[in-house]
Amino acid sequence: MNRPTPTLGQALQSAIDRLAPFTDTPRLDAEILLCHSLGQGRAYLRTWPERELTPEQAGRFRDWIGQRAAGMPIAYLTGQREFWSRDFIVRPGVLIPRPETELLVELALARMPVQAPAAILDLGTGSGIIAVTLAAERPRASVTAIDLSVEALAVARANAVRHGAAHIRFLQGAWFEPLSADQRFDLIASNPPYIAERDPHLAQGDLRFEPVLALASGATGLDALTTIAAGARHHLKPGGHLLLEHGYDQAAALADLLTAQGYADIAHHHDLQGHPRTTTA
Ligand code: GLN
Repeated sequence: MNRPTPTLGQALQSAIDRLAPFTDTPRLDAEILLCHSLGQGRAYLRTWPERELTPEQAGRFRDWIGQRAAGMPIAYLTGQREFWSRDFIVRPGVLIPRPETELLVELALARMPVQAPAAILDLGTGSGIIAVTLAAERPRASVTAIDLSVEALAVARANAVRHGAAHIRFLQGAWFEPLSADQRFDLIASNPPYIAERDPHLAQGDLRFEPVLALASGATGLDALTTIAAGARHHLKPGGHLLLEHGYDQAAALADLLTAQGYADIAHHHDLQGHPRTTTA
């Protein structure tokens, strides 16, 4: 039997009721998913609450609300997330872009003069947000992006094409592995996995659905940061910059590690929550 097709207002209200026990933002989540199933902006919902959904739209919307109620992150359902005012394609298999990472991009741009033909390396590029944003904002730079995940590289390439940064060189491998020993960069940036393997947060919220490869790194979460800091010494030009995103409680450990490896000008930078989130050296 066919279900009656609801109006936008009815569909929205029943979705909000269904999501309320599972999310802090049931109305926002429901509006985003309803807009996405209609291919319309939020204003449309307010203007046309009496309009009926087509059976396809209604079915798709119900399916997404069901997945959202089961915890699926909104960005995986809509297939996109905004970062530095650009819409990036995201899929399960890549980390969902976080606003914290805009801090790293801001610090990188401040270190790269607009006209400089700088060589930039992004390690563990994931959806490509760092590499693509830097390449788009600094068109004269030559940007290399590395990831272990073939799936992530496919998403990052699609994002590069979408944002006019198709000249990025994408390489597959573990951290510096795909580079030749003598390749050097003016700036090396990374948002690596930095959560401790047994951290209970990995079993909560959006993190449950994201690739563990992009999240967890060893018993203390510092394995990838340690590997990158060590390798970057051989791949930075004299006076080059290393920029690392890390956990809110890892700044001191990372500073010790960088000092021991001979880095200078180590500085911590705070995210909008006030946590030291990115370290530069
Ligand atoms: N900032 C992310 C989180 O804690 C983790 C991302 C990462 O490990 N690079 O949700």
